[in-house]
Amino acid sequence: ELATAPPIMQAAQQALKRYYGYDNFRPMQGDIIQNILGGKDTVVLMPTGGGKSVCFQIPAVVSQGTCVVVSPLIALMKDQVEALKGNGIAAAYINSSVGQSESNDIARAAVSGHLKLLYVSPEKLLSDGFLQFLNRVNISLFAIDEAHCISSWGHDFRPEYTQLGQLRNHFPNTPIIALTATADRLTKRDIITQLNMREPRVFLSSFDRPNINLMVRPGQDRVGSVIDYIGRHPQDPGIIYCLSRKTCETISQKLIAKGIKAGHYHAGMTPLQRGKVQEAFLQDDLQVIVATIAFGMGIDKSNVRWVMHYNLPKNIEGYYQEIGRAGRDGAPSTAILFYSFADVMQMREMVTKDVPARQAQLNTAKLERMQQFAEAASCRRKILLNYFSETLGEDCGNCDICRNPPTTFDGTLIAQKALSAVFRSREKVAINLLIDILRGMRNQAVLQGGYDQIKTYGAGRDLPYLDWYSYIHQMLNDGLFYIAYEEGYALKITERGHQVLKGELTLPLRKFQPSEKAEKPTRAS
Ligand code: ADP
Ligand code: ZN
Repeated sequence: ELATAPPIMQAAQQALKRYYGYDNFRPMQGDIIQNILGGKDTVVLMPTGGGKSVCFQIPAVVSQGTCVVVSPLIALMKDQVEALKGNGIAAAYINSSVGQSESNDIARAAVSGHLKLLYVSPEKLLSDGFLQFLNRVNISLFAIDEAHCISSWGHDFRPEYTQLGQLRNHFPNTPIIALTATADRLTKRDIITQLNMREPRVFLSSFDRPNINLMVRPGQDRVGSVIDYIGRHPQDPGIIYCLSRKTCETISQKLIAKGIKAGHYHAGMTPLQRGKVQEAFLQDDLQVIVATIAFGMGIDKSNVRWVMHYNLPKNIEGYYQEIGRAGRDGAPSTAILFYSFADVMQMREMVTKDVPARQAQLNTAKLERMQQFAEAASCRRKILLNYFSETLGEDCGNCDICRNPPTTFDGTLIAQKALSAVFRSREKVAINLLIDILRGMRNQAVLQGGYDQIKTYGAGRDLPYLDWYSYIHQMLNDGLFYIAYEEGYALKITERGHQVLKGELTLPLRKFQPSEKAEKPTRAS
């Protein structure tokens, strides 16, 4: 295959071997690199550990000039640059931690063409004079790492990122590659429009991590469960994510008291302390890290066998990213989420405190999806993949629900009523209003929209609010519709939803148990 590849791709593959020691590109890497080397804009949506860095580093190495990499995390930048230098590739970074004289040296090296990659923070890139300086550099490519930070719909919005659209105006002929491990529809859209990309090719690799066994456990006696699990897996390295720094410390102490080699990690520690703990974990001197979500970004430990969430994550994006730190070597691994309704209440307060109303509403809606994932009784992997707009043909067989399925009934008729009401109200209604329409309520929202005139109005009178609430979330989890956050949280029917509506697919539903304590959501969402 090498012989028939275009010469530039032969050079790319040789560079992969020479600088990284790998024989072959992973699926997609080759296509991505070829697209960039063809001068085209490129979007890469690939899960953590998928091999995104190579996608811009190899084009940087085989092209004339310098690739400018925008990266939001100063610590990550340093690691990446050091790794590149270790591989014999000329690279440097400029950010607030770099002094003036060193910056000047780096700038000179860039202008004289001695750098293959120059990493910059977005603040630096947009600071006074920096774009003018870049005009003097022969730039091969812009790589925007962690590109999801550009989207205010995402989970890690950074306002500086929204200014990156200027790059296209200043450098109209330089290709841009945007990379992220977040794949939701709105984030993808925002990346493309805000960076002013020109007919980019989008490479979406599957977000499925079939080797991770997904489990949810009740929140009672968490410490006991954790100690019991570690006792049964005494050789397996793992990470426990906790909400607060204090919890990290107390849990870690409790594990140590049981003779487990544990350490804690959070942003309140000095860089030196954190570095030590991280190093000990990488070296397998510590079996367990009890950490806040500050831990894990850019950590390349492939044999993490399990990840636990001691507390409920804020949203599915975060949860997915954190469990993704398990099993990067592809071997069987486990993700355990501890869940109690009290966690939801605590989280709800946290995600709505001191943020603008619009953000509070979005955070609440995302938390609700997380709650529904935890309470769900259908294949958990299907739910995750549906969330990222990906469909899994069959149940996964590697989650607690698949291993121990709950009893269900044929819910096709119920689903059709809901879908039909969504369809007849022209996909403009959010969950609460949909339930009101189905139940034939006569409140202002129903009457103002004229929804009392549609055929399905009142078709679901026989079911109480909370039953509908549960069924609609089961339908969301199953991917029959999705929430358009940007359109007032309106439900939109998917292809799969239309199949159920037409009777081409049936839908098993799980009977709503009042004991689930599914709380009636606020009217805002
Ligand atoms: P991401 O940025 O998507 O999280 P990385 O770029 O850090 O992923 O790559 C994850 C790991 O996979 C790294 O250890 C990297 O060296 C390795 N890797 C990348 N490409 C290849 C390849 N073609 N063959 C083998 N290993 C690869
Ligand atoms: Zn499953």
